Amino acid sequence: MRFGFDIDDTLINLRQHAFHIYNRKLKQDVPIDVFDTIETLEIHEPFGLSKKEGNQMWIDSMEEIYFTDCPAYPDAIEVLQELDREGHEIFYITARPAEHCEETKKWVEKAGFPVQEGRFFCGMKDEQKIHTIKDLNLDFYFDDKPNVLNTLTEEPVQLYVRHQNYNKHLDMPRLTNWSELKNIIEKHSNKK
Ligand SMILES: [Mg+2]
Repeated sequence: MRFGFDIDDTLINLRQHAFHIYNRKLKQDVPIDVFDTIETLEIHEPFGLSKKEGNQMWIDSMEEIYFTDCPAYPDAIEVLQELDREGHEIFYITARPAEHCEETKKWVEKAGFPVQEGRFFCGMKDEQKIHTIKDLNLDFYFDDKPNVLNTLTEEPVQLYVRHQNYNKHLDMPRLTNWSELKNIIEKHSNKK
């Protein structure tokens, strides 16, 4: 089967990683349990930053956020490696800016995710992901962002939202931990 994955906040814990970086750069000590209460995609509010300052902080920190030691979510790497071993096709579709695509691909590989040549797509806008996803004829697609998933609801791909506070209103099949993926695949195979 053909599986498509968003990367940031779907396979890796990028916002939480950025939260630690913000604390250090801003010389603050906002406790990590505050992170779990953030209901928005943006993380700047607990640091007392305005939206504009928050955007600038993200841009200024982007390379450090992307290319340091951001952890994958539990089981994500192992589960994808297993899919790869079983002969499934794994595609990555990330809207990271074009200038960071090459390094992102390397980073993802180095982290241990299975990346095959020609199956890494990057640099499109969120709302343009639909074109790649349609062209790839995916069986499954996983993402965290409502503004991506909402463009795909009419498409013949099985969507899953990777649970986050900012997407809990989405009425869509939901994955909270990557250890659930095996059961999800089984469930859909039985239906066919
Ligand atoms: Mg994402």
